[in-house]
Amino acid sequence: MIVAKRIRVRGVVQGVGYRPFVFRLAERLHLCGWVRNDGHGVAIHVEGERQALNAFVEALSVQAPAAAQVTDVTVEATDVEGWPDFTIRESAAGARLSVQLPTDLAVCPDCLKELFDAADRRYLYPYVNCTACGPRYTVIERLPYDRPYTTMKDWNMCPACAAEYQDPADRRFHAQPNACPVCGPHYVLYGQGQTVRDSVRAVLQAAQLLRDGFIVAVKGLGGYHLACDAENPQAVERLRRRKRRPAKPFAVMVKDLDTARTIVELSAEEEALLSAPSRPIVLARARRVLPGVAPDNTDLGVMLPYTPLHYLLFYRGAPSVMVMTSGNRSGEPIVYDDEDALTRLADVCDAWLVGERPIARRVDDSVCRVSAFGATFLRRARGAAPLPVAKIPTPRPILAVGSDLKNTITLAVNGQAVMSQHLGDLEQYEAFTAFEQTVRDLLAMYRVPPEEVTVVSDLHPDYHSTRYARQLPALRHMAVQHHQAHVASVLAERHAWERRVIGVAFDGTGYGDDGTIWGGEWFAGSLGEGLRRCGHLRPALLPGGDAAAKVPLQALAGFFADRTDWAADVGRRLAFPERFFTALKLAEKQIRTFPSTSVGRLFDAVAALLGFTEPITFEGQAAIWLEHRARSQPLLKVYPFPWDAKHGVLDYRPLLEAMVEDRLRGEAVGVMARAFHRSVAEALFQSVQRLGEAHGIETLVLSGGVFQNALLLSDVRERFAKSGIDVWIPHQVPANDGGISLGQAALAATVMERAAVEKEGT
Ligand code: ZN
Ligand code: ZN
Ligand code: FE
Repeated sequence: MIVAKRIRVRGVVQGVGYRPFVFRLAERLHLCGWVRNDGHGVAIHVEGERQALNAFVEALSVQAPAAAQVTDVTVEATDVEGWPDFTIRESAAGARLSVQLPTDLAVCPDCLKELFDAADRRYLYPYVNCTACGPRYTVIERLPYDRPYTTMKDWNMCPACAAEYQDPADRRFHAQPNACPVCGPHYVLYGQGQTVRDSVRAVLQAAQLLRDGFIVAVKGLGGYHLACDAENPQAVERLRRRKRRPAKPFAVMVKDLDTARTIVELSAEEEALLSAPSRPIVLARARRVLPGVAPDNTDLGVMLPYTPLHYLLFYRGAPSVMVMTSGNRSGEPIVYDDEDALTRLADVCDAWLVGERPIARRVDDSVCRVSAFGATFLRRARGAAPLPVAKIPTPRPILAVGSDLKNTITLAVNGQAVMSQHLGDLEQYEAFTAFEQTVRDLLAMYRVPPEEVTVVSDLHPDYHSTRYARQLPALRHMAVQHHQAHVASVLAERHAWERRVIGVAFDGTGYGDDGTIWGGEWFAGSLGEGLRRCGHLRPALLPGGDAAAKVPLQALAGFFADRTDWAADVGRRLAFPERFFTALKLAEKQIRTFPSTSVGRLFDAVAALLGFTEPITFEGQAAIWLEHRARSQPLLKVYPFPWDAKHGVLDYRPLLEAMVEDRLRGEAVGVMARAFHRSVAEALFQSVQRLGEAHGIETLVLSGGVFQNALLLSDVRERFAKSGIDVWIPHQVPANDGGISLGQAALAATVMERAAVEKEGT
């Protein structure tokens, strides 16, 4: 008996070879009907024998192509229409799109085989790709994902490519960026007085330049990298000088996993992360020092090649460990436009390896680490964005615009929270422009009219993101406190709407409910009922305001504000530079001085006390210095860092007094740094144990930039082991401000939900 079904498949199912898979499956099972992409994913009408149909439905999720992520298959009975065969139909122009945007994937093994097969027509062709791999988000101009809406629209396929594209049995059936050396884009090398227009020769020449110690700007998937030989200290030093990046670690790209193993220690989990199709940068313990690559750091950020071009460079003899850092000058976002690359990188690089395929949007490399609590993101971008990070049930779309540093935005629509790639520091003009473009992009791609969204921003009135949100023609505007958003992001990614938790945010700075600068906050409650502040770090002063975040010594002076005479004496005995004493005077006279509960500043202050007396040159530098001084040091003591349960205040004064004494006695800096980390973990434990008992709560949530500290996380893990308290940290989104937009969206959704329930009740 012949029956018919209408089937809908949701998830990442467009642009990943899903329709050809369905086609081949139907042919194999002798079923008729059609498959097509629409605004919700993939729609199928299928008819045939009942048994074959059942097998078909089961295979839709079980046998889906590797790059697909099927989240949902719904099946309905329908009328038999008598189709003679099975076909792939044109994409429907749907209403609002609930389809998920596919992300960029590393070149697959099948394509690599062709790349290095001298008999293949794509031999050494740097743009080889197929439905299982290659660019997606970085070439998509709008949805549905079809070639005319991608940056490949200007290249017409040759007969051979077109035949693959149209053959349902082919790996390249509807592979939108499909191309070959005859019909597709090429790479060109500029610089050193030459222009090499042939891809093969351009790559050869670039590899040679890299071997000779030159700096080459290399166009990748989401922007330009600056590449040089990581084992050539002069080249690395030159890159630092030209990029004006004196100290911030560079990531390296290595030829293969074997090479990676020679420069960093890798666990099985780290190797899997490194080799994943998203190919993030993985921070791992360095096995040897590459001079200048990661100063004052015992970790190294490593990634494997992910575009055919990267493989070709190594194949042609490029150094097997290369610095691969964002193509920009320090602090600016990565360059992705060719014109920009040629002008803005002119005094940074010696040559350009320019690919002709345009990049639709700027996407940096993702950065991950395997912490004591498992894999975490430090930066969520290429390969991960714009995948959903959580399910947020909300009847109306929510646009959360995040924080101003490490900005990301989150759009909650059709029950999914889709997070953008890392967009950077909105103070930078280019980053802000990318932010505006990404808001427009995501709204347009999901067909959400701006006037229908609830827009959520940080409570900080002067954030660029807040001001932008306020002028959007949105349905309504909401503001969410920064540290509540940090905690909420963790609950959201676990879909823990009702779970009551103690949430602790240890952070740099964020605008508090009372208008002061927060950054060491304890909350109790849940997403559903709301999070209530129940503790904080004893407020210190920030002499000089924002400047205190750039000069750790200035922060330290702020922690001594109530004992300035004693502090001045300590400063003299430790031969601190003049700015320490100036800051003490500012604090004493309360000039340009603000109270703050920031734990981030406490880490800075301790770093200063232990010898980091220069201004920082990148965010988090002093805390990272402190962490790496402490790594591998023996744990010999724990400093007093008492929690005042009555007032919910963590008092740093006994801690700093003890540390000053140690310092004046000449205790080893590494030993002190080590003890400090454990003391923070111990104080956290004492406070959470008391609060947990008081509130009847057994789950602790940790977020905020301070929890990027791997040593602190491992101390926390040890301290809470067997305590009966579950500790949750963020995994899908970063603990830093990159996770804020998800927390904002989640809190806004629950506030709207509560309002709706209350309305019903009246
Ligand atoms: Zn492939
Ligand atoms: Zn072709
Ligand atoms: Fe923050």
